[in-house]
Amino acid sequence: MSRRKMLYEGKAKIIYEGPDSDTVIQYFKDDATAFNAEKHEIIAGKGVLNNRISAHLMKKIEAIGIPTHFIKSLNMREQLVRKVDVIPIELVVRNIAAGSLCKRLGLKEGELIGRPLIEYYYKDDALGDPLVGEEHVVTFGWADPYELEEMVSMAWRINDYLNGLFAGIGLRLVDFKLEFGRIWGENGELYIVLADEISPDNCRLWDDKTGEKFDKDRFRFDLGDLVEGYQYVAQKLGLIPEGGIIKGGNLNEKMLEQLDQIENELSRHRRLRDVKAQKPRKS
Ligand code: C5P
Repeated sequence: MSRRKMLYEGKAKIIYEGPDSDTVIQYFKDDATAFNAEKHEIIAGKGVLNNRISAHLMKKIEAIGIPTHFIKSLNMREQLVRKVDVIPIELVVRNIAAGSLCKRLGLKEGELIGRPLIEYYYKDDALGDPLVGEEHVVTFGWADPYELEEMVSMAWRINDYLNGLFAGIGLRLVDFKLEFGRIWGENGELYIVLADEISPDNCRLWDDKTGEKFDKDRFRFDLGDLVEGYQYVAQKLGLIPEGGIIKGGNLNEKMLEQLDQIENELSRHRRLRDVKAQKPRKS
């Protein structure tokens, strides 16, 4: 195993020291947890799929001008990311009523809420990540009003963009969670960047016709095979070819290698297409 220094181990990821002082390596584990880790299972293949889906979405988000911590994918389970000072707030963006919002306010799952909603949760496992208001965020110094405004404005732009992206592949983005971090520039200027991951672990994604769920609710409420659901999302995003979904629960190492080969093939073709598209025409 690696002799790199581990900086932090979370429920779904490990952070290792990076090659430079301003980078870290984000490793995606196969652990699935729910209800503040009361339910826990190891699901082979989950880490690989989340790594791939999150890298894809982070690149897309960066391409629309939103700074992220993502630098590059290193291998099947790891990404090189910028080292950030984590802001201890989770922003949950909701487009449709589901999950804890329904429980808290007695809403029916799937109900349209008048307009998208942003909620703040204080990141503290021991307290179960409690819902807090803007006033708490500022009063307790978790973020100042300018940082909060920046995070909210980025969250709205990400929501608009991802809603369109998922609608285009037949999925409804019901809700999702975002985390942000601070980075200081050479002259001490502060940047807020999107951090953590965006994957079916922290988004609710429903089929827009059948309502089938392809996110972590499959695991939370035993609705179906988690890895098959995540592979479906990856396929819709163009990361696995049509018909390439491997059925039957946990993916073994051979299946993972197969997925990696498919991904390499796909990215080789994408590269070839890019090169062709950029080649100047002869007149
Ligand atoms: O459970 P709840 O309905 O509040 O979750 C809202 C959204 O935020 C869901 O997509 C869920 O997966 C995500 N979430 C998360 N991490 C948490 C809490 C919620 O990714 N700690």
